[in-house]
Amino acid sequence: ETYKEGMKKTRGAFSGRINDLIARYRKVDEDFFEELEEVLISADVGVTTVMDLVDELKLEVKRRNIKDSEEVKEVISEKLVEIYYGDDSGEVEKLNIQENAMTVILVVGVNGVGKTTSIGKLAHRFKQEGKKVMLAAGDTFRAGAIEQLEEWGKRADVEVIKQSAGSDPAAVIYDGIRAAKSREADVLLCDTAGRLQNKVNLMKELEKIKRVIEREVPGAPHEVLLVLDATTGQNALNQAKTFSQATDVSGIVLTKLDGTAKGGIVLAIRKDLDIPVKFVGLGEKMEDLQEFDASLFVYGLFA
Ligand code: GDP
Repeated sequence: ETYKEGMKKTRGAFSGRINDLIARYRKVDEDFFEELEEVLISADVGVTTVMDLVDELKLEVKRRNIKDSEEVKEVISEKLVEIYYGDDSGEVEKLNIQENAMTVILVVGVNGVGKTTSIGKLAHRFKQEGKKVMLAAGDTFRAGAIEQLEEWGKRADVEVIKQSAGSDPAAVIYDGIRAAKSREADVLLCDTAGRLQNKVNLMKELEKIKRVIEREVPGAPHEVLLVLDATTGQNALNQAKTFSQATDVSGIVLTKLDGTAKGGIVLAIRKDLDIPVKFVGLGEKMEDLQEFDASLFVYGLFA
């Protein structure tokens, strides 16, 4: 339901334009494809991907002898899903959750993308699943970050482990692991600072944090989730590149997909970096986080 609600706005922005295009062109001709290209590029699908997609569409339209623009919609959806999964099986990529041990999840991303909100939403989600969840306030750099995480902790009703602002993030996360172990938590979500200005420092800080986690919990971190803001287009893609150079990003949380026509960034991230989108943020509330399913996503756009 929330997925549908959130998608409504995305839909309004993105597929509204495609549907409008289809309504205007009854026949599928060169002009139709040219306008379709424009719409997809402005949705941040990525120029090369769009070119390939439109080439394939043209072939498919010829092969199936499609004349009506309504029918093309179906083919566009099929192709978008195909592009997303590439050579993969097409299965939704689930989080790597440990069944009988603690799962440690590291959350990274720059300020303002919705990192704190997403941690709060994830905490709520795990809690709803009956898990014991704890948070570690590892963003000791940004003013107010610790308080903001505590606020979300209250809302989701989970404990937050913190130190004072400016302290060593790795030490906070160490404390978090110790506390989570002694309270027998199922999931520990670790916040981090996302300072992109200095790539070397970012890399060093994340390495140090990972070393602590690896030492305390063998096999962890089980996920490194990068939070990206869908409305920032190319910037989001650049952030993904930088973070994946600094650490092994295992999945993406793509926020603010509600009310943006830029949903195409999902495809660009997958194509260029081969990192799966695991969750999408569809609003500011605690419930507004959904597992990402490419088929649902693409078909939702046209529904
Ligand atoms: P942080 O600096 O990365 O921790 O970002 P915050 O979690 O503070 O979020 C920044 C702003 O984005 C806040 O106003 C959030 O309410 C808003 N936000 C976060 N996720 C979403 C989302 O999925 N949709 C919408 N519409 N807003 C969001």
